Amino acid sequence: MIFRQLLEPESSTYTYLLGCEQSGAAMLIDPVLETVERDLDLIQELGLTLSCTLETHIHADHVTGAGRLRALAGSKAGFPARSGADFVDFAISEDEPIGIGQLQLRALYTPGHTDDHHSYLLDRDGVGRIFTGDALLIEGCGRTDFQNGDAGTLYRSVHDKICGLPRDTLVYPAHDYNRRHVSSVGQEIERNPRLGGGKTVDEFIAIMAGLDLPRPKRMDVAVPTNLACGEVSVRLAAS
Ligand code: FE
Repeated sequence: MIFRQLLEPESSTYTYLLGCEQSGAAMLIDPVLETVERDLDLIQELGLTLSCTLETHIHADHVTGAGRLRALAGSKAGFPARSGADFVDFAISEDEPIGIGQLQLRALYTPGHTDDHHSYLLDRDGVGRIFTGDALLIEGCGRTDFQNGDAGTLYRSVHDKICGLPRDTLVYPAHDYNRRHVSSVGQEIERNPRLGGGKTVDEFIAIMAGLDLPRPKRMDVAVPTNLACGEVSVRLAAS
């Protein structure tokens, strides 16, 4: 398997490239519009063909590269079915396998940051990896104060769906604002100051209610554009 973690520095977003050496097929998890060309250059350099893109959820802080990648490379855009996004090539639901070549991912429904949020689990070459989007960050988690977010729901998602995985499962989040790259399920259970260390659901809800975060600067553009697969021209034509 070919695996790369790619950073878009403006929004501190991580995009993940997974490639199957046997078939030459690649997928991107959470691509960003501004880094589409970089990602395609890398895919070409590696001798791969982009087969599909997957979103963990409808992002509020950046525009997805899914639509532009489809236009440039012919990739299929996969979005959570619950997002209700338009122009989607395939809709993702829990436990539905998603595959390219010999790589099989399992979608886990992990709402709470948003109500459409899914994480993607990959077991390959004896290594478990979970792409947690904004449900679980390294020593943090996504906010729960918009897009039908709910702190109690996020607590249950993380505890029921992620904390029960083998402790050495690697945790790859959609963002890190301190340039950390990877964690593990065991490390988050022990060290996550919001969700780990034995915190109760009530303690977590109180922490999230007290964050008082500013509204994301690009939210008013990002959310409607992402609901159209990041197709900026389509969104403008419809408005
Ligand atoms: Fe998000």
